[in-house]
Amino acid sequence: MLSERVDSAQLAELAKKGFGQVVSLPVVDFARLSACLYQAGGDQSGTDQDSAELALNVKFDVGPEGFPRVAISVTGCLSLSCQRCLEPMAWPVRIETRLSVLDSDEQTELIASPFDSILMNADGLDIATVIEDEILAALPIALVHRDGPGCQSAGGDESNSTIEAELMQRPFADLANIVGGRKSNVDD
Ligand SMILES: [Zn+2]
Repeated sequence: MLSERVDSAQLAELAKKGFGQVVSLPVVDFARLSACLYQAGGDQSGTDQDSAELALNVKFDVGPEGFPRVAISVTGCLSLSCQRCLEPMAWPVRIETRLSVLDSDEQTELIASPFDSILMNADGLDIATVIEDEILAALPIALVHRDGPGCQSAGGDESNSTIEAELMQRPFADLANIVGGRKSNVDD
């Protein structure tokens, strides 16, 4: 199911049934995500990254407004580069989100949580892409080791950096503010 696109009719059916699926997928299956992760020097393979897996829990239901929803839970651990010493550091992934699946922008006016929605395009809905988008949106922009033995550059010349390892971004926390500040003009 995760590797296939579903169309509107299939999605409606999955939602009505309350279909759910729990799977583990290797991180390397997500090409865009893999490109953001710590890369061992050169083109060597065989790093931990190659065997890292993400536990995915996907569940469909019908929202209060009648639109299908998909609840996505992602847990695992990714290896990102410390932005100070460029060495790898573990970043725990914990994503819980539930998105209404809409057919058009206009429908966002019909649901209570328009920011927690995605649009289904003409090709259908690719759940794996949705999941990858969610993870990419949650990735910290600047992750560094906390000062200490873990960071190879601890106490180095970027000492004015106050960003710490526990910096975690809530998915869409900023997006909501950005979109919320914009007036939409729908004249027709
Ligand atoms: Zn570091």
